[in-house]
Amino acid sequence: RLQQTPATSFVPADRVDRMAWNQRNTTRMKPYRGRVAPTPTGLLHLGHAQTFWIAHQRARQPDGKLVYRTEDLDPQRCKTEFADAALEDLKWLGIDWDEGPDCGGEYAPYIQSQRIERYRELLETLKTLGLVYPCRCSRKDVIEAVTAPHETGEEPLYPGTCRPALGQAGTFEADTAARVNWRFRVPSAEAVVFEDGRLGQQSFTAARDFGDFVFWRHDDVPSYQLAVVADDHDMGITEVVRGEDLLKCTARQLLIYRALGWEAPAFHHCPLVTDEDGERLAKRHDSLSLKAMREAGLTPEMIRAKFIE
Ligand code: GLU
Repeated sequence: RLQQTPATSFVPADRVDRMAWNQRNTTRMKPYRGRVAPTPTGLLHLGHAQTFWIAHQRARQPDGKLVYRTEDLDPQRCKTEFADAALEDLKWLGIDWDEGPDCGGEYAPYIQSQRIERYRELLETLKTLGLVYPCRCSRKDVIEAVTAPHETGEEPLYPGTCRPALGQAGTFEADTAARVNWRFRVPSAEAVVFEDGRLGQQSFTAARDFGDFVFWRHDDVPSYQLAVVADDHDMGITEVVRGEDLLKCTARQLLIYRALGWEAPAFHHCPLVTDEDGERLAKRHDSLSLKAMREAGLTPEMIRAKFIE
């Protein structure tokens, strides 16, 4: 049985060195539940294949289960043809799952665009807790907030233009409230420390490594950060396997888990696949898509032989 390492702590940044490590071990007792969660904005490439393959391998243990979830929140960029292609490509590669959009399961639906009401409920909870505030700033990070930031780099540190004083609600009129973004208020200078299954202890400082992030978009689309936490929690995921470009997102998400009083899963961040120039693969690398490689005659075994891990 693979070991999961769910250890998370939140400590003031200046106390990190002195904190005794507070390891939680309750998750270790639960049967393993992992997930693969492709976003259908393009064809899957070798990098996705490697991450999803690792997720699949880690879920293969006694009582282990793998969930397949389609993360299609962005109505402009997500396409059914890519959602279908991802299912087909991953099956071809040799990945099988126990629950998913094609086979159903206890936690259906496994398609994020069909789970919006649950995310909305959580937005309302966080509004009540005063942990999100309305924001009218229009920036690039607002547009990109609904997909995981693999290809876009990091969201800029929000300067706090619309951030109300602690304990005070945002000040927009009721008639404009429907059209504002909602941002998650991150605590200032607090270290989010967690144990990664592959990379060991990770530490990011809120308000320095990342700022108040978009939580719900003005055109009524929930953010990736919210949806992924809601689903991983609601679907009973015990370990999240994802690319290491999302380490900082994990730190943001741990703040959401804490705000909701939920136990966080364990995390395992996978190495990234790069092209010949050392650049991380992106969906624009069409020649390295699984589909293109399959059509060029490569077998699943040949593709798996290219994985770094
Ligand atoms: N849908 C996200 C992606 O494709 C999932 C990332 C994650 O594991 O949270 O990257």
